[in-house]
Amino acid sequence: MPFWEAALSTATSSNPSQHHIMGVYNRAPLAFERGRGARLFSTDGGEYLDCVAGIATCGLGHAHPVLVDALKTQGEKLWHVSNIYTIPEQEVLADKLCAATFADVVFFTNSGTEAIECALKAARRYHAVAGNPERIDIIGFDGSFHGRSYAAVNASGNAGYLDGFGPRLPGFIQLPFGDLEALKAAIGPTTAGVIIEPVQGEGGARALTEAQLVELRQITREAGVLLIFDEVQSGMGRTGKLFAHEWAEGAEPDIMCVAKALGGGFPVGACLATHEGAKGMTPGTHGSTYGGNPLAMAVGTAAFDAINTPELLDNVKTIAGYFTQQLNGLKDRFPDVVLDIRGKGLLIGVKLASNNREFMALARDQNLLIAGGGDNCVRLLPPLNLTLAEAQEAVAKLEKTCEVVRAQAAA
Ligand SMILES: *Cc1c(COP(=O)(O)O)cnc(C)c1O
Repeated sequence: MPFWEAALSTATSSNPSQHHIMGVYNRAPLAFERGRGARLFSTDGGEYLDCVAGIATCGLGHAHPVLVDALKTQGEKLWHVSNIYTIPEQEVLADKLCAATFADVVFFTNSGTEAIECALKAARRYHAVAGNPERIDIIGFDGSFHGRSYAAVNASGNAGYLDGFGPRLPGFIQLPFGDLEALKAAIGPTTAGVIIEPVQGEGGARALTEAQLVELRQITREAGVLLIFDEVQSGMGRTGKLFAHEWAEGAEPDIMCVAKALGGGFPVGACLATHEGAKGMTPGTHGSTYGGNPLAMAVGTAAFDAINTPELLDNVKTIAGYFTQQLNGLKDRFPDVVLDIRGKGLLIGVKLASNNREFMALARDQNLLIAGGGDNCVRLLPPLNLTLAEAQEAVAKLEKTCEVVRAQAAA
């Protein structure tokens, strides 16, 4: 048995506490050795339908042949150099991202959090180089999630992530989600920018309306502050458009953070900006060792090309439509279990009457993997190329899970 197989089997059976892993996660007692499409195969021989997709990261499912090929081909050529050199593979992906969006320039990172860091720094620098260094405040919203670095947890609207980490950083404000009157009132002479997820992910799949997106753009433009969209989870096809804000016409941000499905499971993130929004990001102001290395770019480019096609985006809309209809049917049949269906595209939230963690475990008993979320939701974040048959299977497994929850409540 290779060493990693031994490690995986200990992780699930005799050593569930993972003695040498820092205990920051409540992990399910389940480990996988292999994946293919929307299927995951566990170390103990189980087969699961994966509607988590690495938290919206494996947008093309597991072991997609195009991504495997890109990884292997680039892996034989060149993995890493340094950003002190020109990296043509970065220019390829940056050209594609800019051609498909509002953006003029891209900074590549290894994660969503780092894309957020770049966005926040760019927003403050923008005002600093314009002679307004007092403009440092970043306005965010309740229930938002922007990552786990100091800046990201301070920007996020979840006090739990700040507990015990010393004083809050100055310059971060949170408002009720989507409250644009409060936003107008809060923008002032020290505001640098506004950060928001067009569809909240971790916060429970709450989506801004198209009208709200447009109004956000108008308010920030008129106030001369930057609009930052965190599309780390909602982007790269998740809602049926390449980016979720595209559902609203005229809602292009100044800066946008992308990650998760951008690398299809390989760590790739990006901070996109207009020339204007990136005006302060001059040589020496920012950097990354790994960010945008040739290996990451090769996989990212392959993932981008596979996701940014009418066929794939249409599939998201079709499957999302099916889910919305079926899940609302479940809500009607199980009003004691399912309280609300929300989200956009294949970023679906199901708000539950009973504990969402227990529901996830019961779904696992049906060999269905779903994610948790704020506001007592579970989230469905399946691969974007999920088939209708797989979606039908997921709904059937959710229905079974609802039956079990109801039976337990009656017992
Ligand atoms: C996951 C996520 C992040 C953080 O990304 P990491 O890759 O975990 O650093 C930031 N914002 C949103 C909306 C996310 O879903």
